[in-house]
Amino acid sequence: MTRTAIVTGAARGIGAATAARLAADGNAVAVIDLDEAHCADTVARITDAGGRAIGIGADVSDATAVADAVARVEAELGAPTILVNNAGIIRDNLLFKMTEDDWDAVMNVHLRGAFLMSRAVQAHQVKAGWGRIVNLSSTSALGNRGQANYAAAKAGLQGFTKTLALELGRYGVTANAIAPGFIVTDMTRATAERMGVSFEDFVTGAAAEVPVQRAGYPDDIAAAASFFCSEEAGFVSGQVLYVAGGPRA
Ligand code: NAP
Repeated sequence: MTRTAIVTGAARGIGAATAARLAADGNAVAVIDLDEAHCADTVARITDAGGRAIGIGADVSDATAVADAVARVEAELGAPTILVNNAGIIRDNLLFKMTEDDWDAVMNVHLRGAFLMSRAVQAHQVKAGWGRIVNLSSTSALGNRGQANYAAAKAGLQGFTKTLALELGRYGVTANAIAPGFIVTDMTRATAERMGVSFEDFVTGAAAEVPVQRAGYPDDIAAAASFFCSEEAGFVSGQVLYVAGGPRA
């Protein structure tokens, strides 16, 4: 059965890999990111492989933009019943240097964004009597120096996930979270830049700390998302899966 999936922040990184994987699994995929033009590469990656996808520009923290985006997905691809809340930003700083803007920006994209998207998509899921929601948490939810805002948001997403699982289970909707460890993307590249180290050295250093002795890649996360979004994962809900090359939780 062809279903329609939405992946936010899917222009690059983990979101792009997840969108491509869900398309390869047979779903039509809406690639949502801040700028519609930036979605083109992911859309092409999917359509070149024979899949179906559209790109939509929307800020997930903007309620009107979210409503418009979900309406467009319904009109162009069919009612969305799979949602991956992946859009994310970092505004790292030690607490004493963290500004209110750093705090609010991170809360808005991760928490408000996941809330607005989930609220809009659950209407379609409940109507269909089937749905999958996957939220991107992080090992930072366990605490990470310089990330008071991000850690709070990623821990918050775990509570959000478990509550959605409780509320929506009766409608055939599951909600789960993936907590990635160190994944090679532009986000970790930006962290290396901020710390003044080359990305290569940063990745090597991070890999040495990981039990399986390598960094993670977007496809590692896409594989976990694919499982949670599958038909056969219908009895798995409210879980947080650490995909970090080791326990970390
Ligand atoms: P990334 O490469 O920085 O990609 C994030 C994408 O989200 C970008 O395309 C960005 O758009 C988009 N985005 C940002 N704010 C948005 C908004 N308000 N509305 C819509 N889209 C927005 O990040 P990533 O490393 O792939 O991370 C993806 C998710 O995994 C995030 O939630 C992140 O916190 C989480 N995660 C990552 C790691 C890691 O090691 N990389 C580890 C744990 C968790 P622009 O390019 O226009 O800014």
